[in-house]
Amino acid sequence: MKRLYVIGDPIAHSKSPLIQNTMLRALGMDYVYEARRVPGDETARWLEKAKGEPCAGFNATMPHKRNLVPLMDELSEDARLYGAVNTVCLRDGRAIGHNTDGAGFLQALREAGLDPAGRTVLVLGAGGAASAVVPKLVKGGARGVFLCNRTLERAAALCAWDKEGRLAPAELTRESLERLAPRCSLVVNCTSLGMTGTAGQFESLDFLDGLPAGSGVFDLIYSPAETELLRRARLGGHRTANGLGMLIWQAIFALEHFTGTRIDGRAMARLLEETLA
Ligand code: NAP
Repeated sequence: MKRLYVIGDPIAHSKSPLIQNTMLRALGMDYVYEARRVPGDETARWLEKAKGEPCAGFNATMPHKRNLVPLMDELSEDARLYGAVNTVCLRDGRAIGHNTDGAGFLQALREAGLDPAGRTVLVLGAGGAASAVVPKLVKGGARGVFLCNRTLERAAALCAWDKEGRLAPAELTRESLERLAPRCSLVVNCTSLGMTGTAGQFESLDFLDGLPAGSGVFDLIYSPAETELLRRARLGGHRTANGLGMLIWQAIFALEHFTGTRIDGRAMARLLEETLA
């Protein structure tokens, strides 16, 4: 039996073991997937230990995603672009770093009926998640992206990625959101505002009233299942989706990397939605 892991600190809350073991059982694959708490200063030691085991690879979450980049023998295009690794495949003593967050996001967005092609998008947040989301919006055909963040410099740094001027930074203030919303038909929340266990909430959600009718609002948060942002958007007649689909699809893509096989993603996504409900 081959081993797979997810490492992080903290890690007890992770849904990855449930998600991956559900898929492995359904596919009849001879792997076991476990969580390991690994402190941030032990990334390199963990990697060496994993290479010495019958381990096919591991997922990584905070605080390892950036630490892993210089430790990889090979990096996928997305991992290099985001400067972060969430999936490590171990093959013949070599470590190959992938990042499935962006692909998982784009697939979940499309599955929710919110294809970004041709839309102008209002992205809220410029942290680690936004750095995977923004390039995928552009690659997915978004006409433009306004990137609003509390710390403006972080938004500006992320916008520098695109040399064709499709990205514009702005402050995450009530005024700028209300000014930009009428120009956008999709909102993507990549901040932690509204998440269970965090004190923060948006100063005002009135900007949602300025979106054109029938816009989409995608929140990367999945706990609670419906944030105040999504509730207000739904009541305003907009199409909404939470971050569970992204969590599920990034895991499906990670398992494809680990096992080197193609998976019926839609069937797996349905199974996982039932399991996690
Ligand atoms: P991160 O790197 O720590 O970034 C956090 C972002 O939230 C930054 O833009 C930060 O702004 C902003 N923020 C935090 N507190 C704020 C406040 N009080 N007021 C205004 N802005 C605030 O975190 P991350 O990894 O990008 O994750 C962001 C969210 O996405 C989290 O809720 C996470 O759970 C979720 N997520 C979901 C998935 C999924 O699969 N569904 C995957 C990844 C992440 P500053 O730059 O100004 O600090």
